[in-house]
Amino acid sequence: MNPQALVQQANRELDVLQSAQQVIRDALQELGYGPEYYELLKEPMRMLTVRFPVHMDDGSVRVFTAYRAQHNDAIGPTKGGVRFHPDVTEAEIKALSLWMTIKCGINGLPYGGGKGGVVCDPREMSFSELERLSRAYVRAISQIVGPTKDIPAPDVFTNSQIMAWMMDEYSRLREFDSPGFITGKPRVLGGSEGRETATARGVVICIEEAAKRRGLNLADTRIIIQGFGNAGSYLAKFLYDLGARVVGISDAYGALYDEKGLPIPDLLEQRDSFGTVTTRYKDTITNKELLEKPCDILVPAAIENQITAANAQRVQASIVVEAANGPTTLEATRILSERGVLLVPDVLANSGGVTVSYFEWVQNNQGYYWTKEEVEQRLVQAMRQSFDKVYTTAQRHDVDMRLAAYMTGIERTATALRLRGWL
Ligand code: GLU
Repeated sequence: MNPQALVQQANRELDVLQSAQQVIRDALQELGYGPEYYELLKEPMRMLTVRFPVHMDDGSVRVFTAYRAQHNDAIGPTKGGVRFHPDVTEAEIKALSLWMTIKCGINGLPYGGGKGGVVCDPREMSFSELERLSRAYVRAISQIVGPTKDIPAPDVFTNSQIMAWMMDEYSRLREFDSPGFITGKPRVLGGSEGRETATARGVVICIEEAAKRRGLNLADTRIIIQGFGNAGSYLAKFLYDLGARVVGISDAYGALYDEKGLPIPDLLEQRDSFGTVTTRYKDTITNKELLEKPCDILVPAAIENQITAANAQRVQASIVVEAANGPTTLEATRILSERGVLLVPDVLANSGGVTVSYFEWVQNNQGYYWTKEEVEQRLVQAMRQSFDKVYTTAQRHDVDMRLAAYMTGIERTATALRLRGWL
């Protein structure tokens, strides 16, 4: 990467943290909390940076850098995913841990926020290299994590197999089986029914609730989904099954758009395990172009900073539901809100994932497992309630849904801090 691109990337990542901090500050202010609350909550309480060697298949040794952030544990253990991505930075992991606190708060889960990341490109690594990397990461952070301390989960480019290796490594270190150390595991190792599809299911519930508020009938809507990873691909399937017209999808390499609706089942069939599918097609457009195409509902389900001040005016959707973390900048949030677009923020829209992770952890602690129907029923109930809480807060305080979500989410942590006597 050239020096200018590096600086641009640093600025972009920094913005993610600064935006998270700014909304937390506004939320605390609106709720009437003193400045000491912001002082404590603007950064994680604990942030570990680790560097560890991994033996590669060709006989060489590579040293990887990785992080684990624990935002606040006043409510209970911290909780949040681990991403494997070449662009992972310290500032990004910090921001993601702040967001996890808000997500857990909105859904009333007994956790604070946590997040981890390894700087690597899993698309260029073999299966056995990934296993050695996953195990080495767990050994490097083992002192600060555990079923009652900090519970990891999947995130960008990590999956149930990686969770299985991490659980195994942790169990070996502690010398007892510890399924509650990590969520998003395969079913046979204590994973929950419905965890893999939970983020997408939660997004669907938010889309349904938002459409209801706007008097839209899902079967008559055109939907664009940016990103075809875990969230984006299941989401496309569920919406297609519900009869909605999915007119646009994309992956890291390009996008497909068809006003008449895309053949979602075929695209899912052709997708590789990293969500790549557009490389098989000639008539692709860019991700940037896709966001401005005609549709009723736009779902950014890829990475950060996709809807910015530069394109927010040209977004044609009347509802934006953020399945990814941080896809819309604060400036873009303001522009969309002024234009009357209903924006359902990430901390609410994608919180189905951590909600079912909580169900998984509860099942691990009890050693008693629920049916798929039980999990999905509880998820629908939790998400509808959370949507309603945030929507009502937005109306009552006359603020946008993002600020309302932060207000709803941060209140529990602020109360716990007060009751524990920390502040
Ligand atoms: N990585 C997901 C998120 O950002 C899930 C976290 C979890 O299940 O703990 O919400």
